[in-house]
Amino acid sequence: MTDGPTPAMRQYYSVKARYPDGIVFFRMGDFYETFGEDAGVVARELDITLTARGRDKNGDRMPLAGVPHHAADGYIARLVNKGYKVVICDQVEDPKTAKGVVKREVTRVITPGTLIDSTMLGSAGAHYLMAIAPDRKGTFGLAFLDVSTGEFFVSSGSASRGYAEIISEVVRYRPTEAIVPESFSEPLPERLETLGVTVSRYRDDAFNVDAAHKHLCEQFGTTTLDGYGCAQMPGAIAAAGAALRYAQETQQSPLPHITGLSTRIPSGNMVLDAITLRNLEITTGIRGEGDGSTLLAALDVTETSMGSRTMRSFLISPLIRKEAIEERLDAVEWFFNNTLERQALRESLSNFADIERIAGRIAYGNAGPRDLATLRESLESIPDVKALFSGDPPALIREALDAMNDHSGIIDLIGRAIVDDPPALAKSGGMIREGFNAKLDELRHLATTGKDWIVEFQQQERERTGIKSLKVGYNRVFGYYIEVTKPNLHLVPPEYERRQTTANGERYTIPDLREKEAMIATAEDRLSALEAEIYAELIRTLAAEVPGLQATARAVGLLDVYSALAEVAARYGYTRPVIEESGRIVIRDGRHPVVERNLPVPFVPNDTELDSTDNQIMIITGANMAGKSTYMRAVALCCIMAQMGSFVPARHATIGIVDRVFTRVGAFDDLASGQSTFMVEMLELANILNNVTPQSLIILDEIGRGTSTLDGCAIARAVVEFLHGRAVAGPRTLFATHFHDLIDLEGTHKRVKNFHFAVRDTGDDVVFLRKIIPGATDRSYGIHVARLAGVPKKVTDRAMEILKEAAAREIPAGPRAPRYTQMLLIDPGEGVAEENPAIKELKCLNPNEMTPIDALNTLCRLQRLV
Ligand code: ADP
Repeated sequence: MTDGPTPAMRQYYSVKARYPDGIVFFRMGDFYETFGEDAGVVARELDITLTARGRDKNGDRMPLAGVPHHAADGYIARLVNKGYKVVICDQVEDPKTAKGVVKREVTRVITPGTLIDSTMLGSAGAHYLMAIAPDRKGTFGLAFLDVSTGEFFVSSGSASRGYAEIISEVVRYRPTEAIVPESFSEPLPERLETLGVTVSRYRDDAFNVDAAHKHLCEQFGTTTLDGYGCAQMPGAIAAAGAALRYAQETQQSPLPHITGLSTRIPSGNMVLDAITLRNLEITTGIRGEGDGSTLLAALDVTETSMGSRTMRSFLISPLIRKEAIEERLDAVEWFFNNTLERQALRESLSNFADIERIAGRIAYGNAGPRDLATLRESLESIPDVKALFSGDPPALIREALDAMNDHSGIIDLIGRAIVDDPPALAKSGGMIREGFNAKLDELRHLATTGKDWIVEFQQQERERTGIKSLKVGYNRVFGYYIEVTKPNLHLVPPEYERRQTTANGERYTIPDLREKEAMIATAEDRLSALEAEIYAELIRTLAAEVPGLQATARAVGLLDVYSALAEVAARYGYTRPVIEESGRIVIRDGRHPVVERNLPVPFVPNDTELDSTDNQIMIITGANMAGKSTYMRAVALCCIMAQMGSFVPARHATIGIVDRVFTRVGAFDDLASGQSTFMVEMLELANILNNVTPQSLIILDEIGRGTSTLDGCAIARAVVEFLHGRAVAGPRTLFATHFHDLIDLEGTHKRVKNFHFAVRDTGDDVVFLRKIIPGATDRSYGIHVARLAGVPKKVTDRAMEILKEAAAREIPAGPRAPRYTQMLLIDPGEGVAEENPAIKELKCLNPNEMTPIDALNTLCRLQRLV
């Protein structure tokens, strides 16, 4: 049977030809159907049965998988979240009135970066589409667009050092989708895909700078882009133009809520690269997204989604201008001191809807009636929010209050137009309030009176015919009918016209009923058409208010963050930092904001005194588990918090502004997977040494650990010398190390200072005091740590013996023979206990490459050997 495709399938093939890289959801009746390879993907990814229907072009059975249209959103969201592009092809005329095959058109293309539906988006976090446009040789313009809120900004990055700058921006903003020109030939897309970003290729002409410039000006209603700070960044303009066009094309909408953009020059903020964001667990924990142990989780007690997004953006781009930081701190301090206002504000914000997202949906045309009702409720509470602020609050609070518009026009309009408890979706109908539109009220009246008439008619007919069980019913095929059961058929009057026979009886009609039925049907059809029209008009009117709503939403987000930071400060005893344009960092009784909350014992606070001209480099030694990493991270977090405008966990802090935080900490799985741990360590080190400035802060945890002791120690020493440099000032550096040899740098390099973590040594046992004190330590307590970790006593006792033997032999300290006491349980001095096979084996082990099970098995074997 190869009659050729049906007309509907011909429509399908032409759509599929236009969107070869998308999964086409083709509306047929109550289902969205997918065909061919698309059906295979849908069946596999969504766990839906794959069937077959008809024949394809070649006469083969055509695979088919469909989802009910009313439940399509969930399925689409799942596909898009997996990185697929979904093309929605809808019926655009009423099948009842269509002549021939129903007309269908692509109404939307949903891609990971352009999702806008609340059901498909998580509420927290922005949702960016990213565009990448090659600029001059080696640089790229980047644009980020959140279609759901209208947030739009550009930045740039260079291709050097394995795209490190671009990757940093990607990790910072976490776009879900990136578009690049079709002819893009760099290997960047592959890197992005390993980070979970879907990369789509988009036609080259959309990235043309002149066309992009013109398109953006038209969208923003300006004649130039000078006011946005990106006039000198052609790549950024090209990227922004492409992002906007792509979003408009996929959404099939002009997206009027996108009304401007901002330029984020990386140097305008403190730079936190990808590695640092991860190492310090700022927004993503070591265990991945949603890990509760992040700084973001510790600080984000905001009440609204807008506040939560703002908190995140504050945290990933702290400020570097003193006045700007002080302004934020003033705002936070005001809320800190005015507890009543703070509590009252947080209380009223807790009921706030996500105005920003709703505004986005209004602009896009798919805001539901319930969205409008919640929008109205939130807007109504704005005057109460404003009234909370008496006196003269600081500048940023006043600015936010001024930016919160008086939306009484919108409130009034929605109040008059929408019923009290409206449905979520406009297509459900019944959302327009009585009294809003006279014509609609009239049709409603007709439809309801028509129904009342039917009820009365049934009663009349029962009395007239004497059939008590007579019923008037309705079905789609026959419309209204009179139903009489078999035992009563003899009572049926002659004027009843038979329409259908059922198992239990017969169904009839009469002219009166037919006439009324036509009237009710038309009233209902016209009613729903008119209601949809009124609603669409309402949305169009509201669309003009979108920029005002966005401004209000931003202001709400800001107030939410200032008050949340004050709340955290009050709950956990933080203080306002003193901000300086200096090279100092002075912290008294500083704590780690995340670790201190998760400890069963009190956190031991510590002091820090760094400055680029005197105490520039702290060399920190001390046993494993002594608290070195926690200490160093706490210092970095304190600077980041201070510069984002937050109070800090310390009794006192003076922060000389830091332009960039660099970290090289431990060995975690790296983004650049496939490289050896040591290679990763050296790549990160190279990045630090190439980009550091005298205003930077550097955290180094055990540099040189991944190679031989000799190499490692040499590298570590050279790094310290490099950072110390010959100049009078250098980057503030915290360096934890097990290379005890490094401690003599204090004597030869003026700005290097030794510190260590105190322990109380009772002879057999050690107690970690978690207190940092000046000077170096000469012991490392590795064996004690092994005991604490549960290594069998036999092994640790033996290790202790060997250590004592070695000490007794006085291993030649020689011309600074390097010692690496932490990695191994014992000092690997030449000739020590060579004869013991356990020691021999221990020496050959590479713990870095062992799984926990390997380690356990090896320990058991070693125990048998001693
Ligand atoms: P190191 O880097 O020296 O190996 P860590 O900084 O990882 O040690 O600290 C080990 C553990 O000690 C931490 O997980 C934490 O539970 C605890 N700790 C660290 N610093 C403190 C402190 N100042 N007060 C209390 N407990 C601490």
